[in-house]
Amino acid sequence: MEYKAFLIKYAEIGVKGKNRYLFEDRLCDQIRYALKRCDGAFEVTKSQGRIYVNADGDYDYDEVVENLKTVFGVTGICPVVQLADEGFEQLCKDVIHYMDEVYPDKNITFKVEARRARKNYPKDSMEINREIGEVLLNAFPEIRVDVHKPDVLLRIEIREKINVYSVVIAGPGGLPIGTNGKGTLLLSGGIDSPVAGYMIAKRGVKIDAVYFSAPPYTSERATQKVMDLAKIVSKYSGPITLHIINFTDIQLYIYDKCPHDELTIIMRRYMMRIAQTIAEQSGSLGLITGESIGQVASQTMQSLMATNDVCTMPVYRPLIGMDKQEIVELSEKLDTYETSILPYEDCCTIFVAKHPVTKPNLNVIRIHEKNLEERIDELVQTALDTQEVVEIKWAYTADRQNLQ
Ligand code: ATP
Ligand code: MG
Repeated sequence: MEYKAFLIKYAEIGVKGKNRYLFEDRLCDQIRYALKRCDGAFEVTKSQGRIYVNADGDYDYDEVVENLKTVFGVTGICPVVQLADEGFEQLCKDVIHYMDEVYPDKNITFKVEARRARKNYPKDSMEINREIGEVLLNAFPEIRVDVHKPDVLLRIEIREKINVYSVVIAGPGGLPIGTNGKGTLLLSGGIDSPVAGYMIAKRGVKIDAVYFSAPPYTSERATQKVMDLAKIVSKYSGPITLHIINFTDIQLYIYDKCPHDELTIIMRRYMMRIAQTIAEQSGSLGLITGESIGQVASQTMQSLMATNDVCTMPVYRPLIGMDKQEIVELSEKLDTYETSILPYEDCCTIFVAKHPVTKPNLNVIRIHEKNLEERIDELVQTALDTQEVVEIKWAYTADRQNLQ
């Protein structure tokens, strides 16, 4: 079947009362953005609580579906045949043709579900269900009706045009990007933080990211890996502004002045402080991390409390209650896993103590941080002043890299 249109289903944004049209407009914008990555010309329109994508001319079906699947807020992608109303007899013929094309093997069960949104149509929904059902049974001897669990639920919507569809491809769900402010993701090269970014973006939050590198202890390849991960996340979240912070001098200074079993915690406190400054400057409303309770020494409840102590902004930790295996499964689905497990050094692991504290005492940490008083403000300022900022976005082919 050659489809010229898709009906886009969305769930959650349908219930937002007066704000509904804002959400729908954002969703249309995001769909248009995703379609810019596809060959062909498309029109995205909103009509009577429905969103349609209409293709003007040739396009690659798989490419369009693949891209629509990255748009948060979309729950279903339905390739639809839109017919002009040329009488019921013609509709019957067109539906037979549709079923014949879409289901070459007729050894299936079906059910017709008609909806008459245009009340002046001469038949009501029940009549349409019954009569089209009969027409199909007569046309295809093998086909059977099953009203409870049909293989094919054939939908016929009588609107200005008549929509005929039966295929629903699952979308990612969530809310359209841009409906919920901006968050700043602490993005490392690990498995967890890209997944955390994806999960918050899924709630409609635009994402910025901060990566702490420690050259020459961490390599260019490690930075490239983080950029690659950001790129995969940006397939869903839209463009990500990535701030790359040179953390080496701060780490060396902490290493020099503080007890080594507290290094990781103190380092993490400085990461949070710096990320928060960047977040404030860029209008972000919260920080996002890939932390999960108990995963490592720096993520026990005591460690999280010590890290959180320096934050005045909310810190969103969407993986907090998840097991590693669950996070791995999500990263495989998101397609970040293979990149995350590449064995490049991370700034946290280089300066890590053999036996880090697992139950840091906040007061003790605060006291030891005083050892840093002399130079730390200057080092933090230098790290902020020398940051590198990169705009990361997803594109299918190299020549589309510059698409906004
Ligand atoms: P990940 O798999 O996300 O690297 P992790 O299991 O290695 O997480 P930690 O190293 O304790 O855990 O880091 C916890 C969180 O702190 C990360 O999920 C990330 O949000 C942030 N983080 C850690 N290292 C960095 C870094 N070098 N740059 C930016 N953020 C970082
Ligand atoms: Mg890590």
